[in-house]
Amino acid sequence: MNYNIYVLTFIIGTILGSFYHVVGYRMPLQLNWMNSRSFCQHCHTSLTGFDLVPVVSYIFLRGRCRHCQQSIPFFHLIIEILSGLLFLLPLHHYGSLGFFSGEIYIAWIFLSLLIVITVSDCYFQLILDKVLIFFFILLVAGYSFFSSCNIFYRLIEGGGTFLIFYVISIVGKFLFKKEALGGGDIKLYGLVGLVLGIRCTFISLLLSTILALIYCCIFRRGNNRTPLTFGPFIAASAYFCLFQGETFLEVYIKLFY
Ligand SMILES: [Zn+2]
Repeated sequence: MNYNIYVLTFIIGTILGSFYHVVGYRMPLQLNWMNSRSFCQHCHTSLTGFDLVPVVSYIFLRGRCRHCQQSIPFFHLIIEILSGLLFLLPLHHYGSLGFFSGEIYIAWIFLSLLIVITVSDCYFQLILDKVLIFFFILLVAGYSFFSSCNIFYRLIEGGGTFLIFYVISIVGKFLFKKEALGGGDIKLYGLVGLVLGIRCTFISLLLSTILALIYCCIFRRGNNRTPLTFGPFIAASAYFCLFQGETFLEVYIKLFY
């Protein structure tokens, strides 16, 4: 595929990542994210022109607000760069045919959902219903218009996954007297099931648990009181499984059966 399209996709990915950071941060605070301009989280000065250029402005300003000199969250930069890179994956995986089969658009919509929920889950431990509903509509529209997939089949996969996770959470709560999966996580898994299908969603659950365990072993030794923010692990595993879920499933089956 043309080299330019990769550069363009990366740039659009960073711009969208910056926007998704704004949405994921402001929505739980019930701040307006549509009309008002981006502003500094400390002094609330509106950002203009150059300050809004993703990645470049952060590096140029050395991670500090031009007006109050307070640091801009490093997380913002990470989201912008990660978003740019992750937007490239569907291009690489599906190639130019993905534009015709619609898989690239679905992957980008799915990635957008995962970035927004990761941001709000990291800041506030919240996965908002309105974000999930919005992306549910967008995904259904995406499957109906772009993709050759049968939308009813996708809805059954999504609904089935949601029900299974709901039952697991109730049983888990009964057995361990502790909430294993939050309500937001269960609904999010419904959407993951819609895109990945039930089998690959379980593989992604397994992967997210492994990732979370590794994270806890490295960064959270002896600090088990605060609940773990699970959203980013769900998001990372689900996005990985969108491309490599079937391969991972085969490896898993070979190992254990
Ligand atoms: Zn400021």
